[in-house]
Amino acid sequence: MNRPEQILLETHASPADDESPEKGRGPLQRLWRDLLTSGGRTSESCPDYLCITLINLVQGTALLVWSLFLTLILLGPLEPLPGRLAIDVAGLVIAAWVIIGLRRGMSATLAAHVTHAFLFLCLLGLSIVRSDNPLTMTLPLIYPALAFLLLDDIRRGLAGTLLMTAGLNILLSSGMGPTLSDSTMLLDGAVTITVVMLFQAAVMSLYVHHRKQALSLLRRASVRLNELASHDPLTGLYNRRTFIEVLERELSRRGKSERQLAFLLFDIDRFKAYNDEFGHPQGDELLKRLASTATQVFSRREDVVFRLGGEEFGVVFRSESPEQAAEMADQLLAAVEAMEEPAPAGPKKNLTVSAGLYLVAKGGATSPNRIYSRADQALYRAKDAGRACWLMASQ
Ligand code: GH3
Ligand code: MG
Ligand code: MG
Repeated sequence: MNRPEQILLETHASPADDESPEKGRGPLQRLWRDLLTSGGRTSESCPDYLCITLINLVQGTALLVWSLFLTLILLGPLEPLPGRLAIDVAGLVIAAWVIIGLRRGMSATLAAHVTHAFLFLCLLGLSIVRSDNPLTMTLPLIYPALAFLLLDDIRRGLAGTLLMTAGLNILLSSGMGPTLSDSTMLLDGAVTITVVMLFQAAVMSLYVHHRKQALSLLRRASVRLNELASHDPLTGLYNRRTFIEVLERELSRRGKSERQLAFLLFDIDRFKAYNDEFGHPQGDELLKRLASTATQVFSRREDVVFRLGGEEFGVVFRSESPEQAAEMADQLLAAVEAMEEPAPAGPKKNLTVSAGLYLVAKGGATSPNRIYSRADQALYRAKDAGRACWLMASQ
């Protein structure tokens, strides 16, 4: 049996969900949003939203910074040191590649890893090539927050931060870094950098941990809500709301499937008498057993069984031919009789159902409600014809 949750989740994951607020935005806001979301590729309801917007923010800033430095080198105020020139050009190329790549469908994970690797190498590289300026040692302090968010993993964020801290300390103590006048300044620098990096790592670990917990809670709540909204609580079958969605989806792919779409609507015969005889709790138990029988008969991947009302059920399924659909209706009626439930006022000794079968054909009903209504008419004709039988609905 297929999973209508997939349809619900697919619908909910669509970036189009967030398109309506677009109308209230000005041109600048739209441009900003377009840049951050890679041309509308992601939206607030998508799991990769934070990752993609962050990458665009980091790489967009990098693009500006590298361009500015290169312009200053070309115009003369900055000296064209080979190491620095190499970092500027590499940073510019990578930033442009990632921004364009994301807009063309590059995976968010690949973009995050590339951005992280270059962030690490560029910040450490700059500290080495600009070691004449002690200020460049403070630049890598932005690293931990971004590393944790880009990698979205506490252990990897921590590993990166420790590596960066070790790298900066090696630079300071080996003399490759900025020349500090005495050992007190060196110790001060090393302790400050280490403490700041570790403090940031602790804050980010806490944040990533809580964010993951909150997201997992939200995901579980959303799955549960979808389940409650799409299922009948008594039988566990899909409900009428899902029936409309499933039928709409099946109708939309009607031309794409070789097999014919069919809808079987069935209703327990003289169920009121069963309740009167055995009580409503027993009636409820019977509804559950009937639901299980129906899902056993209609057990193929594409078959979907619904409880549409009190003692009224429906099945949306596909068949190779009208004969095969008729065979399925026969099987269901036979399976219900084979349950050997007593029928105090039914047409037979055992409990039975009556049904209406509608085969979706070109030129016939094209909306779920019309299909339902055609099958319902056939079901009522079956009731009038003496019950315990099914009839084909007219187109
Ligand atoms: P018919 O053959 O014409 O369908 O006769 P019927 O008695 O099945 O139909 P009717 O519409 O007269 O009665 C439907 C009964 O279904 C009445 C109600 O007690 C019962 N019913 C509806 N929902 C539930 C439910 O959730 N649990 C139980 N136990 N009974 C239900
Ligand atoms: Mg009935
Ligand atoms: Mg009924």
